[in-house]
This record gives sequence, C-alpha cells and structure tokens, in this order.
Amino acid sequence: MTASSRDGRYGAVLHLDLDNFKMLNDTLGHDMGDLLLQRVAERLTASVRAEDTVSRLGADEFVLILTNLSPVKNDAATQTELVCEKIVAALNQNYLLESNVYNVTSSIGASVFVGHQTELETALKQADLAMGRSKKDGGNAVRFFDPDMEVSVVKRAALEKDLREAIRKKQFTLHYQPQVTRNQITGTEVLLRWQHPQRGLVSPAEFIPLAEETGLILPLGHWVLETACLQLAAWAIRPEMAHLTIAVNVSAHQFHQADFVDQVIAVLNTTRANPQRLKIELTESMLVANVEEVITKMHTLKAEGVGFSLDDFGTGYSSLTYLKRLPLDQLKIDQSFVREIQTNSNDAAIARAVITLAQSLGLGVIAEGVETEAQRDFLAASGCLAYQGYFFSRPLPLDNFEAYVQRAALSPGSRFEGSS
Ligand code: C2E
Ligand code: MG
Ligand code: MG
Repeated sequence: MTASSRDGRYGAVLHLDLDNFKMLNDTLGHDMGDLLLQRVAERLTASVRAEDTVSRLGADEFVLILTNLSPVKNDAATQTELVCEKIVAALNQNYLLESNVYNVTSSIGASVFVGHQTELETALKQADLAMGRSKKDGGNAVRFFDPDMEVSVVKRAALEKDLREAIRKKQFTLHYQPQVTRNQITGTEVLLRWQHPQRGLVSPAEFIPLAEETGLILPLGHWVLETACLQLAAWAIRPEMAHLTIAVNVSAHQFHQADFVDQVIAVLNTTRANPQRLKIELTESMLVANVEEVITKMHTLKAEGVGFSLDDFGTGYSSLTYLKRLPLDQLKIDQSFVREIQTNSNDAAIARAVITLAQSLGLGVIAEGVETEAQRDFLAASGCLAYQGYFFSRPLPLDNFEAYVQRAALSPGSRFEGSS
C-alpha cells in the first residue's frame, strides 16, 4: 500500500480457496492433500510476476497480492481479471499425485486498492467476501468485491465477443481524412470505423486497445492495409486522385510479427499499389523494445519505396539517438500540442521544438488535430506546412472524400469549404 501510494498504481488482493478440498482431503488422505497444496502453491507462484506476493493463509486458502497495476481503476481491474483467468486455468490442469491423476477447481475473490484509501484489514475482508460470492455461484469462478468493476469486466468480455464476430461479418470500414500541404491535398490517413448493428459507429479508441490485447488487431490490421492498397491501385488510374498518398496506422503488435515485412510486400504485389504512395504510421511505443529489429524491418520496406511517419510524436519517450537511426520520412506532431498552441506556451514550445528537430534531421513534419485557422497560421509561421484536422475536414467515408478532393481541385487555395 505504501508503494502504491507513492506511484499511484493500483494493487489487488486475491483471496483464493480450492473448491471441495475438504472432500478431497477426506477421501485421499492428508498426505495427498498436503502434496496437492504444494502443487497449487507452485502453480500460483508460476502464474504471477516475481514482484507479486503469494501466501498461504491456512488450510486451502491462499492470498495473493498483485502490485504495480495500472493507475486507472478499470484498467487495473482488467489486468487483475487476466491474472485470475491465468490462475484458474493453471489450477484446473490435472494434478499427478504419486501416479494418480486428480482434479480440483478454485474460487477467487478480488479487490483492488490504491494507496492507503482502504484499511489493510478491509482490503483482505473485501477479497474474502468476493471469494464467498464466487463459491455461492458454484465455484470455479472469479468475482470482484466492487460490483461496478465486475460490470466493466463483463462489458469487456461482451465487446471482445462482438469484435470477433465483427471480423467474421466484415463490419469494418475506413474513413479518409485529408492531409494538406500548403493549400494542396497531398494525401489521406485512413481511420478504422466499426459499423456495429446495435451500437452504431464505434470509435477505434474504444476497440483498438482490446483488439491489441486479444491479438485481433492482426487480421484487422491486415484488412486495413489491404483495403488501403486496393484503394491506391484504384486511384492510380484516375488523374485527379493518382497523386494521393495513404497513411495507414500500424500497431506495435502488428509490426512486431515476424513476417510483417513479407505481408506488406505481398499485399503491395497482389494489389499492384505503388509503394511510393503508401505511408506507414508508427508510434513511439513501438520503440520500447527490439529497436534493432524495428530498424531492420523499416529499412527493408523503405527499399521497396514505402514511407514512414512517427505518429503522436512528443507523447512517448523517443530516444533522440534512435530517432536519428530510424529511416523515417516524417514526424507527426500530436494533437495534444496543437490544441492549445496559441495559449499554452509549453505546448507551443514543444511544437516548435518538434518542427526544428524534424528540419535538422531532414524529415518532413505534419501537425494533426488542426481545428482552426489560427492554429494553422501559428504552425505555418513556425515552419510546419503540412496539416491534418477538422479545420480542413473530419475523416470522411470514401465517396465524400473523393468529392472533397474534386471540389478542392475546382477551387484551389480556398479552405475547401462545405466539406465537413
Ligand atoms: P491517430 O492515428 O493519432 O489518428 C488521429 C485521430 O484524431 C483520429 O481519431 C482522428 O479522427 C482524430 N482527429 C483528426 N483531426 C482532428 C481534429 O481536428 N480534432 C480532434 N479533436 N481530433 C481529430 P480516430 O479516428 O478516433 O482514431 C483514433 C486512433 O485510433 C488513431 O489515432 C489510431 O491510433 C487508432 N486507429 C485508427 N485506425 C486505426 C487502424 O486502422 N489501425 C490501428 N492500429 N490503429 C488505428
Ligand atoms: Mg495516425
Ligand atoms: Mg496521431
């Protein structure tokens, strides 16, 4: 609790009780019971991180403390749920006790805490109460003390189920947001949209993180890449569209796949898209691990003609040393710095620093989230001449985007009015 109050991260107390242990103990004998408890302890220890705590309270009751969870309550609950699922799965495996195979399930109660907000005794009590509910519901289950938390965990499970179905039923579509350099539309970023039969249009902010956690981002990301390349090929034979680049967001999980480079090359070959028109947006989070591998992959794709932009730049922790070694084409100033660029001198300073950095590294720079003329002018005066944002247009369905490009061609120099 003291550690948690220092860094603001949540912790969790898990109270675990084996189902029907007494019966097992009575029928197998206490020696076997002891052996089983030892095996359970080993599996529990193997299911959590070294910094977590596993203890035996007595009889068949164990208490675990997970530390260093997310500082966001619901995220901490989700992390706790994932660990609990792992524990339940590990404990459900057969036990070989002196050449006999046994089975036992367990009930877990979980309670999350942050700092000293909850009394020590209370946190333990809460986990115990939740464990009791798990038993009452038939055992072999995980329950949270805070019912709200259970709702959020259940919601997440429902979303995951929907997401799997959405991939099967192809409920996704791409929206196109113009990228403007000076007064010319030079390209577009494709942004994923989920057309859900009941929920309506679901924002990627709601489902991308889950898609990443569950690995569903892999088929989804591949579909985005393929659709974007098909679009490039279709535009190539239309003079008014042929010059446009398409920027595709690629998540870390996707990029780190062993065959990512082969996948991109295969898609380029089958769709016959011009690689020079494809721009991959990476984020700084990609650079926390395996940087050498990232650099190699980027070089290979770069040799094919594919471009790279570093998205949300300034929000992560890019090492400037790495930045110099990455074959990037562009830095993308995060919208959080653009929002208050005129009123917040820190934001303005960061935006200017990114522009200067890009210039000195010989990279392009584009600002995202440009919503007003004043923001655009401020950026232009600071040396940033490429923009994306509501000031020009919101992300649009394909037809509207194509109409937007055509309108802009008819009235060059205007802000392409009536588009959003
Ligand atoms: P991002 O790549 O940084 O995309 C920019 C986000 O800012 C988009 O939100 C866009 O609609 C929004 N935006 C654009 N202009 C403005 C503006 O002027 N003001 C404001 N307030 N917002 C603006 P969106 O479409 O909801 O996407 C959110 C994030 O979801 C994206 O951030 C990206 O990280 C992720 N995402 C979207 N599509 C994909 C995809 O196909 N694959 C992956 N891996 N991630 C995606
Ligand atoms: Mg992006
Ligand atoms: Mg961005």
